Parts: sequence; C-alpha cells; structure tokens
Amino acid sequence: MAFSTILRGGRVVDPANGRFGTFDVGVDGDRVAEIAPELDPARAGRILEVGDCWVVPGVIDLHVHTSRRHGGYNAHRMMARAGVCTALDMGGPWDEFIEFAGDEGAGLNVASLQQVRPGLTVGDDDPGRGELEALLEKSLEEGAVGLKLLGGHYPMTPDSTRRAIEVANAARAYVAFHGGSTETGSNIEGFVESVELARDLNLHIPHVNSYCRGQIKERAIDEITEALDLLAQNRNIISESYLATINGTSGRCVDGVPESKATAQCLQLAGYPATEEGLEAAIRDGWARINAPRGGENVNITGEEAVRSWRARDTITSVNFPVNPAESRLLAATARNGDGSFVVDAIASDGGAHPRNVNVSSGMALVRTEALTAEEFVLKTSLNPARMLGCPSKGHLGEGADADITGIDPETGSPVFSLVGGELVLWRGALVGSGSTILTTERGVDALQAKGFSTRVVDVAGSMLYSGRPADPFSRPA
Ligand SMILES: [Zn+2]
Repeated sequence: MAFSTILRGGRVVDPANGRFGTFDVGVDGDRVAEIAPELDPARAGRILEVGDCWVVPGVIDLHVHTSRRHGGYNAHRMMARAGVCTALDMGGPWDEFIEFAGDEGAGLNVASLQQVRPGLTVGDDDPGRGELEALLEKSLEEGAVGLKLLGGHYPMTPDSTRRAIEVANAARAYVAFHGGSTETGSNIEGFVESVELARDLNLHIPHVNSYCRGQIKERAIDEITEALDLLAQNRNIISESYLATINGTSGRCVDGVPESKATAQCLQLAGYPATEEGLEAAIRDGWARINAPRGGENVNITGEEAVRSWRARDTITSVNFPVNPAESRLLAATARNGDGSFVVDAIASDGGAHPRNVNVSSGMALVRTEALTAEEFVLKTSLNPARMLGCPSKGHLGEGADADITGIDPETGSPVFSLVGGELVLWRGALVGSGSTILTTERGVDALQAKGFSTRVVDVAGSMLYSGRPADPFSRPA
C-alpha cells in the first residue's frame, strides 16, 4: 500500500507547482506522496471523495489570538472550522497560548510570539536593551518564535520600541509590531512611525487595514493609500491585512477607563467617552460587541445581556467594534506594486478567539468577484504565509510537502475539510482533530517536548522576514 489517504477528484489549486485542475492527491503519513490525474484506489488505506471541492495548500493564518485573555478557550476549534491548518498567535502571552494549545487543541499547527507589554512582560514603557534581550531569550527557550510589540494597545516609548526590533533582528527572531507608541496611536500616525522605527531593520507590521479608519485624515481611503505607498517603498517590512469589519480588543477597564488605547479610540470614533461608562453605553447600544461562548465558538453579543456578561467577568472580556471600512480592507487585500506583486503579502484574520476567521469565506468572495484569481488567493492565504514564517514544506502541494490541505466548496466559499500532517481535522462540518503541533525554533524544541508536545522547527532566519521575497511570487519556497 503506497498511500495512507487518497483525496480523489478535487480541483487542485497549487500555483507553486503550476497545478490547476482535477487531480488525485496521494498522502503517505504526514507528507504529500504523489499527485496525478488518477491514482489507483487499491493502493490507499483510505479514500476521501472530494470531487466537489477545491483542494488547496493548507490555509496558514499568520495573525490569530488564542490565549485565555482573548477568550481563547474555543479558538482552536473556531480556526479548524474555518479551514485553517496552521496559525501564528500574535502575542500570547506565552503561558496562556500553550495552555489552550494543549488542552483545547483541534489538531492544528500553531506557533506564538511572546508579547512585549509594560507591566506584564517588561517593567515599564521604556525597557532597556538588557531587559528586552532577557525577555527574548526566555521566550525562545520556552518555544516562542519571537516577539510581538503591542504599541497600539499598550504603548512603549519610540526608543524602546526601536530597541526591541533591534534585539529581535540581532537574534534573527520573528518580530511583529502593532504600530503605536507613547507619542502616537493605533492609527495612520502610528503606522508611519512604525515604518520609520523599522528603518534598515526587518519587521512584520500586522493588520495594515486597521490603521486606516479615517481617524486622522477624515477619509479612510487617503490613509490606506498612504499606508500602501509606504509599504511599497519600504520592502524591509512584511505585512498582512484582514477582511472582517470588526476589530478585536480588550474590554477590560482599570480605574474607570479601558486599559487598551485601541478600545478608547474605538469609543471615540463613534462619539462615546473613552471611559468605563462610555464602554458600557456602547455595549448596550451595539457599537461594542462582547465576545461570548455559544455552542462551541465565540459569538458577538450586545445589549443588556452583553453588559451583564461583561460585568460578570469583571470587564475582562474581548470586545469587537465594527470599525474597519471596506475601502481599507479591500485595497489592502488587492493593491499591487508596479511589477504586479502584492503590496501587502498576506491575508490573515486577526481572529482565532475573535469571531472573524474569514480568510477562506471572505477571500473566496474576492475570487468570485475576480478581485483575486484562485492562484492569488492561495498565494495570500498559504504560500506567502509559509514563506513569512519560514516553512518551505508548507504553502504548496509538491511531492514531499507537508500534507496540510484545505478543501473549499467553490460555490459557497466555505471550508469543507482539512488535513493537517495527513490527519483529518475537519470533515464536512465535523471537527475530528485534537491536540496541537507546535511550530518553534531549534531553541524551543526541548522545553516543548518536555511538556509532551510534538514540534516542527521553522526557519525564521530563512523566512521572508529576513531573507526577502522571491522574484517569482509563485515559485516553490526555497
Ligand atoms: Zn491581533
């Protein structure tokens, strides 16, 4: 018997290998063994009939939140239902990331950054180089792949922000920065500042669309145009954007005000005072939507029920605001450079625990409206994310590639099935996976295996973050 599984008759979309057509996919263990117009079913341990589906390289979501403070109990199941095979938790904190990756895992590959947050992982808003180096060292040893700077929520000084990016670059660790500092905010000014702070260094700037809500320039389209121009000129920065209307932030209030600066800004956008009372009024009115668990996933609730839920949890909830204008989301997803390459490298969700895991559903809507081709959809939801994280065996379905595969109904744009490492995780609406494989660097393997996790090593130094983009966007990852 040659194959543990044959996926029979699906429409394979694999731009890195130049495949777009009806093929059988033979999986042996955790690898893709052979793809051909027809494989002998007698050679397979299991046949999965997928003739109604597109069969694409497993979706990689490079921006999710799965930790307890984000309401992450359901996050892995929500991602699995959304067709995600691999996800990067943008910021942990690490202890909370690893808690749910074990007990509440749904069979996915997951990695995490450790957050740099004054009062939590660093002392104050101006940590020195030694403190930042110590945090990075500890994080890498525990298994994180790098650091997430949370300036837009929990700002640090511009100098210490720059230091943190330098420290991560020196160690060739992953580094992402939600723009904003003690001098700016989570808006186009914070974005411009983050590009300046990253000068001559390498940096991932997350959720490009989110800085462009018409807070500073009045018109969101002028802000997203400025952001995209800056990214086109500063190719040391890699980036993603998301497609959902809602953002995601903290509902927690301390001393009568929201602890997150982003939450305060969202209140002000709709004319509410940036106070605990303002947030309560916004929840009651439906502008602020509290995340609450319902039937195995998190959903948005509003009104009195939401106020009670938020109060019952001492305000320690996730909250979503419908603040993302269409022009910023659509331009960030589709804008191109002069050479035809995309300005923003990937589509990510900023979801996980937040109910906006829409990379497949909204990404496929862009395909149906011909804003993206099928190949471009795969480029932005799997191939480029694999390169960004340093996973050359993901993002494509060549022989020997990881058997991470997402199946999509092209009529509805809905995820139908997924395999992760050759194991079924999602099958026609049912979740059948458990646990997690942790993607880590060489540094983190021992600590994670001591905790009982299976691990896979990613090559951050060889990733798009540090080694740049390929000349041919559809080439196989090196
Ligand atoms: Zn985020």
